[in-house]
Amino acid sequence: MLVVGAGPAGMECAIVLAKHGFRRVHLVDAADEMGGHVRWVRRLPGLGEWGRVVDWRVVQIAKAKAIERFPGVRLGPAGVLEYGVELVVVATGSRWAGDGLNAFSHEPIAGADPSLPHVLTPEQVMLEGKRPPGRRVVVQDCEGYYVAAGIAELLASEGYEVEIVTGIASVAEVANATLEGPSIRAQLARVGVTWRVDAMLDEIRSDGVCGADHYGRRFERETDGVVLVTQRRSDDALYRALVADPAALATAGVAGVYRIGDCAAPRLIADSVFDGHRLAREIDGPHPAIPLPHLRERAVLEPSV
Ligand SMILES: Cc1cc2nc3c(=O)[nH]c(=O)nc-3n(C[C@H](O)[C@H](O)[C@H](O)COP(=O)(O)OP(=O)(O)OC[C@H]3O[C@@H](n4cnc5c(N)ncnc54)[C@H](O)[C@@H]3O)c2cc1C
Repeated sequence: MLVVGAGPAGMECAIVLAKHGFRRVHLVDAADEMGGHVRWVRRLPGLGEWGRVVDWRVVQIAKAKAIERFPGVRLGPAGVLEYGVELVVVATGSRWAGDGLNAFSHEPIAGADPSLPHVLTPEQVMLEGKRPPGRRVVVQDCEGYYVAAGIAELLASEGYEVEIVTGIASVAEVANATLEGPSIRAQLARVGVTWRVDAMLDEIRSDGVCGADHYGRRFERETDGVVLVTQRRSDDALYRALVADPAALATAGVAGVYRIGDCAAPRLIADSVFDGHRLAREIDGPHPAIPLPHLRERAVLEPSV
């Protein structure tokens, strides 16, 4: 059994497969450390607590004799086919869109290209240490949770002058549901971050940005860089390449290829973990890729017949 990707979904899947009786589960990840996105999310200001998602599973994996870890290995389709396994779970996660694709316009933002020095993705900021070429930064947010706020606070603490432009009605609006919204905004205000709500950039240049709010009022701003927290895209190239060639799978003796977590569709951590858990529990079923229906243990209403 091969699990490609040791983010929350792949880690959980490997643990449950081992509990389920699989005697050899190989957990392979391109990174040296397990945890996927959570490796860097936990380093954002105030977000260390999220590390528990990974830390608990690191211990469980270390205890599970059936699981063997292979860090620092990036597998392509050929590597998977040569691996010599019967079942493959692809848990390769997702990445932030570098072209500004977002749920408001459903299109990229003109001028958004993360190969340019003044356009940055969250992964570039957190994993590669990329920084804007000057002190003024705009963070374009369309996620509404803590990523834009976390990156804005981080950059402000490093001395950058930061404005969040959010397509949502409030900064960190999703965090209102967990009662964290007011404290996140208070902390941003304390460190000098400003914001513009209900607004989207529609052009990014090396010396500034322009955009409009949802009511048609246009704005322009001089800036040295833009961080794009617009939307994530599944990293599903490996899965697609494998399932596109059933003959090669048959020749290699691979009986099943499944995808879980953000690789299937970007989602919350809890949903990624559930996806990995569910697949491992149902792996012996006739159609493991299709979740079994929820069965009520106790009927709430008596049938009327
Ligand atoms: C910035 C950010 C904020 C988030 N906020 C929240 C939140 O507030 N609450 C919440 O519940 N969820 C949140 N999420 C979502 C959550 O982090 C993800 O849903 C979760 O990490 C997905 O887990 P995963 O295992 O599917 O993928 P990932 O965590 O992306 O892990 C994928 C792993 O696969 C590895 N990999 C990729 N390709 C290969 C390959 N070819 N060979 C070997 N290894 C490979 C990668 O190195 C990586 O370790 C957030 C995500 C991000 C990025």
